[in-house]
Order: sequence, then C-alpha cells, then structure tokens
Amino acid sequence: MHVNLDYGTLKIGDKVTAKVDETKRRLTARNHSCTHLLHAAIGEVLGAHVDQKGSYVDSEILRFDYSALNKPSVKDLKAIEELVNKKILESIEEKTLVLPIEEAKKLGAEMEFSEKYGDTVRVVTFGDFSKEFCGGTHVKNTADIGVFVLEYDTAVSSGVRRIQGRTSFGAYRYFAQKTSALNYVSASLGGALDSELGPRIAALKENVASSGKLIASLKSKIASSSAKSLEKEFEDVNGTKLLVKTFDGMGREDLMKVGDSLKVKYPDYLLFLIGKNDDGIAICAFAGGNGAAKLGAGKAIKLAAPLLSGNGGGRPEMAQGSAKDLSRLAEAITCLRDALK
Ligand SMILES: [Zn+2]
Repeated sequence: MHVNLDYGTLKIGDKVTAKVDETKRRLTARNHSCTHLLHAAIGEVLGAHVDQKGSYVDSEILRFDYSALNKPSVKDLKAIEELVNKKILESIEEKTLVLPIEEAKKLGAEMEFSEKYGDTVRVVTFGDFSKEFCGGTHVKNTADIGVFVLEYDTAVSSGVRRIQGRTSFGAYRYFAQKTSALNYVSASLGGALDSELGPRIAALKENVASSGKLIASLKSKIASSSAKSLEKEFEDVNGTKLLVKTFDGMGREDLMKVGDSLKVKYPDYLLFLIGKNDDGIAICAFAGGNGAAKLGAGKAIKLAAPLLSGNGGGRPEMAQGSAKDLSRLAEAITCLRDALK
C-alpha cells in the first residue's frame, strides 16, 4: 500500500485509520465490473481473437484496450454498447470463485493484462457471459451498473484500439451534456424537434453551398458591370487609355476579375487598379498595346507603388503589388501619366 502524507510525520508503531470514499469506490466498482462486461461483449461482437491489451478504471471513466487490425464499424460499436446494456438489464449476480489456477484455466476464465497470479486465484463471474481472473472490487449485481455508454473507440498504437465509456452517474452526466448540446442546436434552428435536426442541417448546408455559388456569380457580374460604368473614367494619354481606380471592399481576386473585363475595351491601355479591404491594400496592373510597350504593368507598379508605401512587380502585361498608404495617390497618377507621354 502507498500513502501520501499531507502533513505531520509517521513513525513505526503509529496507529492509522484508512478511510474509503464510499461514493468514489462505488462508482469505480461499477466502472470496473462494466469493463468485464465490455471485454466479453467485444469478444462476442468482434470475435474471440480480441485480446485485452490493458485497462484503466476510475470513478469517472473506464478504458479498455484491445487488439484489432481494423477499426470496428459504427454498427459493431452500437452492438457492443447494446450487449453490455442488455447484460446490465439482465441483473446478473456477481460470483467470485476462489480456485486453484489450473482449475480456473479449465473454466476458460480470461486473464487480465499483466496481472501476476498465485497458486490460488479469484475468478469473477457474471453468469456464463463473463469469467475473469480478477482481484478487484465489483458490484454485487450487473443491475448496479445502471447504464453504460460507449463514448468513443480510437487507435492508440498499431494494432491496438481503445474504447472509453462511462456508467451510472458518469453516463448520466455524459447524456446531460449531449442533451444541452442538442438543445442549443435545436434552439439555434428556431426550436426544431430532434427528429428534424438532421434534415434541417442538411438543408442549411445545401443553402450555404448554393449561396456561395450565387455570391461568386454576383461578384463576376458586379465586376463586369462596374467595368462598363468605368468606361467614362479612362483618360487618354497620348493614345494610351489610362485608368487608375480605387475599389473599396475589393480584394486581389476581385481586382483580377475587373481587370479581365476592362482590358478588352481598348487596344492600347494601362490599368492601375487598387483594392481596399480588411486584408489591406492590393494593386493589380494590366497593360496592352502602347501601354505595354511604353511602360508596362510591371514597371507601372515599380514606379507608383513606392509612392504608396508599397511594392510589387510582374510582367509587362500583368503585375501585382500592395500598398499601405494612398495619401500620395495623385502624385502616383501623375508619375504614370508622365511615363506614358
Ligand atoms: Zn477486474
């Protein structure tokens, strides 16, 4: 036995009283006995080849590690959970047999992982369903476990999986938590019934997907219509059509769309498009014909972006950059105009 001393000292010959937390012990016994039922249920559902690789039990949870090459199906896990609950409901009495080890082995009792066994062993049985070598504390009857919930099944290492579950008050707390999560979802959907949640969420997802498509098509429509309304704003600089324009709320991708619909308007052009949104200030430049020959998009950005506390570059036909401050935009426009003259 191990003792943690919170205060004081202990001497040989001192009398001590050991006190057990009854509730904790009871809940732990429930989880422990349920682990035996779970072990048997896994064997029955997944096949007798399943070996125990370890287990952990406290007053909150139970964990059971077992050998498995594949992930069990949702159906198998449900079957395991249901079988354990059936055995709880059957109110099977616990019987502890104290036997010579050879006799116990003949009974086909399961040996717990890494336990050491003497000549005489305890075999804990729940009817014919579960027989295990075990020295732990158990419930008197499976009905004492109350209810079992299989929380999850996960891989812990290659070929070893772990099931975690809860019983009794722990299971109640698990269900209560799930219920409040469901209630929250239901309230968010305007008080939908549980049975309506699946279809309602599926409909919402579909709605979001089609809204996304609609937004994308609206964006490109806006881009082409704003391209049309911008025709008047082009300035003729010595035969090259120059447009410098700032768009609020537009990002780089939107600028590219606007640029694509604007660059077909004139054979000789230089477009210097600026987009401002939460991500910052983006610049996209496009040039063609004389505009590309005289200055080009890449050089236009190299020339003007530094005046806007930015930088960038690219090809003569298309270039990108970014800026931080548009207060000297007029100066930048003059620079571009002069370069095209
Ligand atoms: Zn045990």
